[in-house]
Amino acid sequence: MSRERRLEGRVALITGATSGIGRAMALRFAREGARIMCADRRREPDPRIGDDAGAPTHEAIRAEGLDASFVACDVTDGASVAKAIRAAADTYGRLDIVAANAGIAFETYPIADEPFEDYQATIRVNQDGVWWTCREAVREMIRQGQGGRIIATASIAGLAGCPWGVAYGASKGAVVQIVRTLAAQVAKHGITVNAICPGSVRTAMSRETMTNPERNAFTRALHPMGRLGEPEDIAGAAFFLASDDAAWITGVALPVDGGYTCV
Ligand code: NAD
Repeated sequence: MSRERRLEGRVALITGATSGIGRAMALRFAREGARIMCADRRREPDPRIGDDAGAPTHEAIRAEGLDASFVACDVTDGASVAKAIRAAADTYGRLDIVAANAGIAFETYPIADEPFEDYQATIRVNQDGVWWTCREAVREMIRQGQGGRIIATASIAGLAGCPWGVAYGASKGAVVQIVRTLAAQVAKHGITVNAICPGSVRTAMSRETMTNPERNAFTRALHPMGRLGEPEDIAGAAFFLASDDAAWITGVALPVDGGYTCV
């Protein structure tokens, strides 16, 4: 019996699609029938964390007989984001789903030791990058006139005080507010805008936590479900928000965190 592919006919652009959560989203959306534009500042996955080793994401998708392309994109550069959005719409003839997922995190600092340069760089990628991606996505979706889905990757650090640095928390709190505000603004165009707030997930970004046993145990203990997240846990939530079942959900910041924010 063939499985229903629930994003059949849709086109999705995902920023930060080369690694971790973005890569898992790209693979999941493609397996659900969407054609994917993988947008990232680098093409090659980070070999230092298990599942990322191997082919670039678009090649891994094509190896499954599915459709994907890659476009170089730096989310801190508005022209680069606009070019990526254009590339998706031109390559596949439409654009239905945009995941503003690219992000960075520096080593955790108490603010007394936090270099201003790290703070600025974090804001530029995590906050400004989501702003650029949302703005260009909205422009294209309004131009097309068929609505759309925007899904931003925030963090539990955007919902609660977390021990991962002020810059990171500030940038993710901004993502949640960008999403809520934009959702109200573009609802009349049939565009939904939601955020996913992951707990700690096993990716290149969290390699410190993954490889340091003490830190791993500490972080795991913060998640009542007793394990850290897998990129596929987040991709599943993103798929739901992109699917027809989420047609009336907008402006939500959805924790996907093994219970982190419920205690
Ligand atoms: P990751 O490092 O595996 O992947 C991040 C991807 O973003 C990489 O492919 C990187 O090249 C890309 N990227 C970084 N800066 C970019 C830029 N300026 N332009 C374009 N692409 C850029 O990390 P991840 O864990 O998959 O992170 C994905 C998102 O999830 C981020 O927004 C992150 O803040 C968020 N998040 C991660 C965790 C976690 O524990 N891993 C938890 C909560 C939220």
